[in-house]
Amino acid sequence: MTIILERQHGLQQPTDEQFGLECPYCGVYAHMSPQSVPDVDSLYKSRPKRVGLVYQCDACHAPIFLRFAVKNYGESSIELFQNFIELERPKERFPFSYLPKHTEVLFREALSCYSNNNFNAFASMCRRAASSSFSALGESGKLRAFDEILAAQDIAEIDDNSFEPIKKVLFGTGDEEELPTLNRAQAGVLLEVLKDMFYQCFVRRSKLKRAIKVRRFFVQESNGALKSSA
Ligand SMILES: [Zn+2]
Repeated sequence: MTIILERQHGLQQPTDEQFGLECPYCGVYAHMSPQSVPDVDSLYKSRPKRVGLVYQCDACHAPIFLRFAVKNYGESSIELFQNFIELERPKERFPFSYLPKHTEVLFREALSCYSNNNFNAFASMCRRAASSSFSALGESGKLRAFDEILAAQDIAEIDDNSFEPIKKVLFGTGDEEELPTLNRAQAGVLLEVLKDMFYQCFVRRSKLKRAIKVRRFFVQESNGALKSSA
């Protein structure tokens, strides 16, 4: 998507190149339409290196702030780099209420680091959240959790080399200084693997127990009703 701000005509964006983003408000992957564009004459006066544009989510109409670096101040138009920074990123979701309280606090902070692109802070918080969950799971909890992530590796067909840093973050026993440095792609894999591990160890278990309790309750209720009507 080429974005040009013209002195005469303002924002120029090819109409067939409308772009979409995951909206941080409604969570929908929606088209974004320009809502607020900087005054081009003012930009020429101060010539900032970065400029901000506000787009509007077509699904919920919320304003989305994007920051662009300026590629070039031309004679009559300003060209912006295509890469932009989203000032508000979509929040990662998880059914937190199923997690032990301490794990929940740590995992919420981990996801907040991820949403803000702080991938190594994210990795450190994943280590703490995982470690807290092992204590909550009891004696063989860590082994069980390890089996779960191996199953996830197998299902997602992640090769051993790519999976090694994920294992180190979650199950390494050394100091935090020894944690591997993660890039965006590795952090994304870590996020999905840890979500899956928590899902298998806590969410699935609680949901199933709750569902079976409800079934039993209704069977008992209907047995009672039959007896009283007999
Ligand atoms: Zn929206």
